Amino acid sequence: MSLPKLIVIDDEIDMAGFVSDVATQAGFDVAQFHNAGIFKEKYNKSADVIILDLIMPGVDGIEIIRYLAEIKSNALLILISGFDSGVLHSAQTLATEHGLNFAGSLNKPFRASELGELLNGLSITQKNKHSNIHIKPPPADELRSAIANNQLVVYYQPKVALNNSPEESTMTAVEALVRWQHPEHGLISPDLFVPTAEKNGLIDDLTWTVLEQALAQCMHWRDQGLIMQLAINMSAQTLKELSLPEKMGQIIQKYDLEPSQLVLEITETALMQELVKSLDILTRLRMKGFCLSIDDFGTGYSSLVQLHRAPFSEIKIDRSFVSEMETDSEAAAIVETIIMLGHKLNMKTVAEGVETLSCQKALTALGCDRAQGYLFSRPLPADKVSPWFTTQAEQT
Ligand code: C2E
Ligand code: CA
Ligand code: CA
Repeated sequence: MSLPKLIVIDDEIDMAGFVSDVATQAGFDVAQFHNAGIFKEKYNKSADVIILDLIMPGVDGIEIIRYLAEIKSNALLILISGFDSGVLHSAQTLATEHGLNFAGSLNKPFRASELGELLNGLSITQKNKHSNIHIKPPPADELRSAIANNQLVVYYQPKVALNNSPEESTMTAVEALVRWQHPEHGLISPDLFVPTAEKNGLIDDLTWTVLEQALAQCMHWRDQGLIMQLAINMSAQTLKELSLPEKMGQIIQKYDLEPSQLVLEITETALMQELVKSLDILTRLRMKGFCLSIDDFGTGYSSLVQLHRAPFSEIKIDRSFVSEMETDSEAAAIVETIIMLGHKLNMKTVAEGVETLSCQKALTALGCDRAQGYLFSRPLPADKVSPWFTTQAEQT
């Protein structure tokens, strides 16, 4: 069996030599390029792994990333740089956005053992990211009849309190997350069909289906003695109808619930499109007593402007910052700052995507109010929710 191929691209000859030695030791067949322009001319897509320095004279690492994307490289990519970790981080994001197989990054200077560990951890056979991420979105017609035929089901993911204040520690809250129970394909993720609904004028139908189902469920929980705060995801289009606050008021009455039990999660991009209209709608929703949450905070545009203008009661810190806060000091700084900002503005802060106990502890230390994530629970079918809260209460 031939050895896996690894290419080092670094203008510093000593550095390239050092990397080559470590890679040879780790069992790779290594080639070095000290000039990225020559690499571009000669490369025949044969590498299993490419280690790329970002800062090089002439053609730099970012241009090579662009080139690798153009030729649809499926080599595993490791980035190295002597610049600050912010640069490394943006380059990593760029590589991933281009669809490249990003496998790790190292800040210069690094030890042989750090590179060795990274190389030994690579799985060379598992390379074809390009082939399996593009699952086809469903045709609009099929989605339309799925909505009409009650194939959409709502799952519920608990939100938990991070502090012991009486108000917080006894609260029970969930976020409604829609799924499509497809007769042939099984449970389909909303990331796959919500965009189809948005593009084809079906999003209002989807939102109201989810809302009716979830509110009926809340009424049922209430009858069992469980008062649940329910969060619903609202799409941009839904915020374009000026009569929305009245419609929301009616539906909440229909299920005999309080407006304050309902949290509307809105993404920042949803707000951008027709600002005046959405501000009118949001302000009136808030005046009626509904809670408003700014979702995926930190990922959209002009976040601070939105926060200043619209009457939000809660900030949800995006999963991408939360999941990286333990390994990436910039992500940690962003999380910390959002929590401070939320509190100064009198809003509750909620961290999404909490997967580890240490992450939970870090968020608690920073004063974050609530958290959500696989550490506590995955989204659950309706009948599993009340048992989950019961077990939770028994444990504390
Ligand atoms: P979102 O609002 O940001 O919802 C959180 C997503 O993160 C959910 O994915 C949830 O299952 C997932 N998640 C929760 N905890 C963790 C964790 O610890 N680790 C990781 N890796 N993921 C976690 P889901 O259910 O697939 O929903 C995806 C997106 O689809 C939602 O993102 C939301 O934007 C949209 N969506 C879901 N339901 C609806 C809906 O009824 N209406 C609209 N308009 N959009 C919806
Ligand atoms: Ca959400
Ligand atoms: Ca999110």
